[in-house]
Amino acid sequence: MPHAVITPQDARLMAKIIDRPDFERWAARARTTGGCSQPVFLTGTVEHVHTGTGELLHTYSTDSEPDGALPVACKTRRASRCAACAELYRADTYQLIRAGLAGGKGVPETVAAHPAAFVTLTAPSFGAVHARRVRNAGRVERCHPRRNAAPCPHGVVASCGARHNDDDSRLGEPLCPDCYDYAGSVLFNAMAPELWRRFTLALRRYLAKAAGLTHNEFRENLAVSFAKVAEYQRRGVVHFHAVIRFDGPDGPATSPPGWATLGLLDDAVRHAADAVSVTTPGTPAMPARSLAWGSQVDVRAITSSGALTQQAVAGYIAKYATKAAECVGTLDRRLDHADDLAKLPVTPHARRLISECLTLGALDEFADLRLVQWAHMLGFRGHFSTKSRQYSTTLGALRQARIDFVREQFPGWQPPHGQDPDLISAIGEWRFHSQGLTRGEALVTAALTGRPLPPPPAPTNGSSA
Ligand SMILES: [Zn+2]
Ligand SMILES: [Zn+2]
Ligand SMILES: [Zn+2]
Repeated sequence: MPHAVITPQDARLMAKIIDRPDFERWAARARTTGGCSQPVFLTGTVEHVHTGTGELLHTYSTDSEPDGALPVACKTRRASRCAACAELYRADTYQLIRAGLAGGKGVPETVAAHPAAFVTLTAPSFGAVHARRVRNAGRVERCHPRRNAAPCPHGVVASCGARHNDDDSRLGEPLCPDCYDYAGSVLFNAMAPELWRRFTLALRRYLAKAAGLTHNEFRENLAVSFAKVAEYQRRGVVHFHAVIRFDGPDGPATSPPGWATLGLLDDAVRHAADAVSVTTPGTPAMPARSLAWGSQVDVRAITSSGALTQQAVAGYIAKYATKAAECVGTLDRRLDHADDLAKLPVTPHARRLISECLTLGALDEFADLRLVQWAHMLGFRGHFSTKSRQYSTTLGALRQARIDFVREQFPGWQPPHGQDPDLISAIGEWRFHSQGLTRGEALVTAALTGRPLPPPPAPTNGSSA
């Protein structure tokens, strides 16, 4: 990505902001939103009332704010929409995953001794795509060197001798788009959350059987905790990365039984991944089919000092959590009626995946998969990062801690000295005002919060981007 530069026009826009008479307050607000580049502006009032006496102690109104509205961070996890909020989401996710592996944030440090593995479950193949595979020595292999293969019915020889660079735009594109199983790809995305659910059930079943325990006995001995993220591969299918950890029956504070070893966890993951499948809906023209995980199941032990450390795993998961489908060349928003599929700024491969979602989604048989609504996600409508209840602290708890901190720092109203804060209730009334910053505001916000400067605006030619 080229470095953003400040043009003379930018400098003039920035000077206008800095010259505002209320700039100090304006700057404080930009900092409390963490440098959010798409803040939501609210108007409204808050009344602090003493619940014992009914006395109105204080009134706050956004009328007193610069431009008469209060900005609130957009809190997106998508780096393509707001780098500042996505970075915060990434940092929170890192803390959450790390706490589940090493302890902290309310999780006892003894959790670090529990068997835990970093597991990757992939999608099956839907046709040959341009790929980059790196050997152990760092050497990049040839993509698909099969020059003597017979051509497909579309006259394409499924061969590519290139050693692709990491930024090669062909990566993930099918060798023959007409041979590629687009229906399979979007149906896999749509049903992957159900496949994951079945995997977790099969995993517990395998473990109970291995230990010779009934379902209830099993639950009295062992709890299996998960934290997982979905990642789009370049070919546009999701795969899952997960931390899977053994706990005692009451979660991370209790020790798992001695028979629940890392070796057993490894076995159980491989068996469960192999055992489950989902059956897609079908039509007379396209019979129902069975979909399962791809053959590449990766299970790696997580340790405090070995090849795969707790910190490294937390870093991977947090990084994946802020990536989304737009990283594979599709849209970062829903399609609407005004969209012309042929003109969307997406790769040809993404366009065909989106088109397949719209085609299948229009059929009654596939209505439950909501493929039209999730076409921009190439069919996937699951959550990007999920965890079981016992895994560790929650993102909500981390956010609340930060909100409390910001509130203390806010030069706003504090309860009068000697008043019991529990006897004061805040009654707020808020309305949506607008969203986003002008270019001058975005530049100053980035400068104030140490964020990268926003890229120069795209030349406007009347079309909405
Ligand atoms: Zn934001
Ligand atoms: Zn290739
Ligand atoms: Zn073909």
